[in-house]
Amino acid sequence: MATLQFPLASIEEPSLPIDVTIPGEQLRPEGAKEFPLGPITVTGTLAPSDNEYIFYGTVSGSIKAPCDRCLVDTEQGFTSDVTWAFVHGAPGHHGVAADEEDADDEDLDDLDDGSVIPFEGHAIDLLPTVWEEVVLAVPSKVLCSEECKGLCPKCGANLNREQCGCDVAMDDGRFSNKGLAGLKDMLPKLKGPLEE
Ligand SMILES: [Zn+2]
Ligand SMILES: [Zn+2]
Repeated sequence: MATLQFPLASIEEPSLPIDVTIPGEQLRPEGAKEFPLGPITVTGTLAPSDNEYIFYGTVSGSIKAPCDRCLVDTEQGFTSDVTWAFVHGAPGHHGVAADEEDADDEDLDDLDDGSVIPFEGHAIDLLPTVWEEVVLAVPSKVLCSEECKGLCPKCGANLNREQCGCDVAMDDGRFSNKGLAGLKDMLPKLKGPLEE
């Protein structure tokens, strides 16, 4: 079984190359919401550096979900570039506290959008961090195509495939779905960071 756990002893200078693909289901922590995830691929390098281990790489995968507008099953890929610093025995809080900025600057100069992740023991387990990344990277809205015309709100015809001839004023199809998809458009808070 593929694993995302790397014993510290295996992480040697200059770096340990990583290229692991694991089933999305294996990634999901117990109790977490289910996603129709395809396999997740983690590639990059894990490099020892002073008191930390730096992972540079990408997390990529795909999600299978009905198109938000026309409900046709759609597969949408995502890729996320990540930089993580795993710090041994760091205090139990995540991230870098604002008031510790000066002390941390030196080590973290080259970490633009990176995160600092404390770890314990003799191995680094990328799995929980990869899962977090996947949750953030999964598109909140899946479209079969940017131009998808959606469903006719009157007769339900898939307007990508047919002209049903109903007399409906369609703007861009965004409100053609009833239910959750429509709700998302009306509640901006639910929108992901990548949307306008
Ligand atoms: Zn569609
Ligand atoms: Zn129609």
